[in-house]
Amino acid sequence: MYTLLTNYLNALLNESETAFKPVSYVCRQKTRYQVEIKQHSAGILELIPATLAKHSLILSCAVHGDETAPIEVLDKILADIVAGKIHLNSHLVIVFANIAAIKQNKRYVDTNLNRLFTTDLLNKPTQAGNYEEHRAEQICACLAKIYSAGRYPFRIHLDLHCSIKASIYPIFAVKPVKLVGGPVLVYNTPLRYPVQAIIHARKPSSTLSFYTANLLACSSATLELGKSAKLYNNQSNLLRQIYVHLVEGLACTELIPRFCVRSNRHFVVSDEVIKNTEAFHFIGSQPLLNFQSLVHGQPFVQLSNSNKQVSVGEQFICFANPDVEIGHRAALLLKKLHY
Ligand SMILES: [Zn+2]
Repeated sequence: MYTLLTNYLNALLNESETAFKPVSYVCRQKTRYQVEIKQHSAGILELIPATLAKHSLILSCAVHGDETAPIEVLDKILADIVAGKIHLNSHLVIVFANIAAIKQNKRYVDTNLNRLFTTDLLNKPTQAGNYEEHRAEQICACLAKIYSAGRYPFRIHLDLHCSIKASIYPIFAVKPVKLVGGPVLVYNTPLRYPVQAIIHARKPSSTLSFYTANLLACSSATLELGKSAKLYNNQSNLLRQIYVHLVEGLACTELIPRFCVRSNRHFVVSDEVIKNTEAFHFIGSQPLLNFQSLVHGQPFVQLSNSNKQVSVGEQFICFANPDVEIGHRAALLLKKLHY
């Protein structure tokens, strides 16, 4: 088990998922640095330090299988905790989400996993053979079990991604909306991940961070951590930067009542651009960067053969992707929040 945990990603890449049975292993037993590691399912691990922790941190990666830098970092963090190089001060859950897509170096195999974390979709029977539907159910079932009976009341979730697009601010976070009636989530947090910008969502979505924020009462964010390369080909300074920021939080004993991500630049989602026709395309010869500003009054997207959309006021575009399926979101429009 020690060898498995210190080479976990390698094992995930080379073994069938069914080979990863629920199992538990205790490192440095009966010392103050004891950590119990429970494998709930392939790629879903719970790490319980000996000191009684109220705080819990979920670190997930590979919701998109080709966003590889956080996958490498979480594998190293796991190995370093097992080897005693990191002293864990919080309860920690590590999720390698889309294992089949990591193996194939793809964003997803059958469907975008980050569109499946809604109660509607999770409650309907999964389509036979749809890998991501099965995996979304498995991840939610494991998290529900870990946090059953109100365990670990202060919960933080960072869902770690890498942007596929060039971005004016390469390191940024999306904070999911909290549905009306949910708990107010200003937790003491050991972790405040620094980013260049935070986007505040205003509508429910189907992402893993929306799910953990609203169904597991986590303080959650999706983090975009820059552009990554193929697995094991990422730049060492990108990996080191992510590692250092996460490990600072894991080892920290000082708790601050703040959101788990910090920035002095804030945007709010003002509108979504939906692709409804085959004629849909963004206007201009260059691809739109994340956070690119749009000129007031200028048409920026051809919605159909006869209909263009014009930018109004000071607006910025993010996640522009003309290649999404018909009916899906092709971009977000943002407004800057001025404090
Ligand atoms: Zn992603």
